Amino acid sequence: MYEVFNNLIDQDSVVEVLKEAIESSKNDLDDSQGMTHAWLFTGPPGSGRSTAALSFAAALVCPNSGCDSCNHCRTALAGSHADVELVRSEGLTIKIDEVRELITRASWSPSVSNYRVVVIEDADRLTESAGNALLKAIEEPGLRTVWLLCAPTLSDVLPTIRSRTRNLTLRTPSTKAVSILLQRASIPAELADFSARASQGHIGRARRLALDEGARNRRTAILKLPTAITDIASAFKAAALLVDAAKKEAEIESDRRDDKEIHDLKEAWGQQGSKLSQGGSKAVKELEKEQKSRSTRMVRDYLDIALLDMVTFYRDVLLVQSDATDIADVIINMDLEYEIMKMSAITTAEQTLRKMDAIMRTRVNLSHNANPLIAVEALMVQLR
Ligand SMILES: [Zn+2]
Repeated sequence: MYEVFNNLIDQDSVVEVLKEAIESSKNDLDDSQGMTHAWLFTGPPGSGRSTAALSFAAALVCPNSGCDSCNHCRTALAGSHADVELVRSEGLTIKIDEVRELITRASWSPSVSNYRVVVIEDADRLTESAGNALLKAIEEPGLRTVWLLCAPTLSDVLPTIRSRTRNLTLRTPSTKAVSILLQRASIPAELADFSARASQGHIGRARRLALDEGARNRRTAILKLPTAITDIASAFKAAALLVDAAKKEAEIESDRRDDKEIHDLKEAWGQQGSKLSQGGSKAVKELEKEQKSRSTRMVRDYLDIALLDMVTFYRDVLLVQSDATDIADVIINMDLEYEIMKMSAITTAEQTLRKMDAIMRTRVNLSHNANPLIAVEALMVQLR
């Protein structure tokens, strides 16, 4: 039992609480309140919020409390278990119609296990009306229904929902724990260490860096930008390069998903030949609109990752400038030691701090819908 919680990396205190909940869920007379019907998993991106929720779901439906090997566990983790409903939103928002259908399904009795579990991966994307509809279901839960919501932080969900759920906060896993995880997946130790360190505890990003050489090359190219910016012209060039890379990345991802989604949707509307009913055409138009805004968001997400990488570069520079001992232990981007040393020699710590601040401000501006190219150009000029 509880083996399924080994999928959670470096989250001992969360696992403790979940084990207690499983324990008391098995005993209907248990009044220790270990088990409740609505949970909210929060934690920084990459910390494993949805893994935690799905592992808990598996442990609730597994006859052996989460053995991680039976069919219940495997299908629950994949979101395909008959009594586990996984809401994985690709769109920007989760709408009220979607939530209403969900509530209906959630009220059914479990078919093969003791619980019916609903996992909502992006509870922060619930529209206000969807959130209010969900609130009603959470306030009057079915005896055997468990709601597991995930969101980056508490402030990302409606306060009313927050107050009705039990919150578990995941922490950023340590570099060492992430490296061990990658090595368990047969990634060589050196590459695992590098990827874990470069991604600063973001498990998904670490995995991507470890498995995708293209992602590693793009990261290196971005981290070399600061040393390439010497004047206004090179600053604009660097900005264009960064934004183009982000667009390219979003394009690759969109191409992979958009056509299939449209195809599936048309099929769902029973397309005959090329003739689509009025409702079907409207649905396709709506999907296309949503895909367009998703692609815009992907450009911003990618830029954000790139900017975070750049902050770690300047952080390394600052450490060298402040005469840190044992550089090898504290520097994140060891593969760019040459660039870091060079930059720390020709600039002052004060300048480095100002640059880090400029990057962080650009991230905020981008999250407030600033034009990406103009925001990045302004940044690069400041990084000269
Ligand atoms: Zn199992």
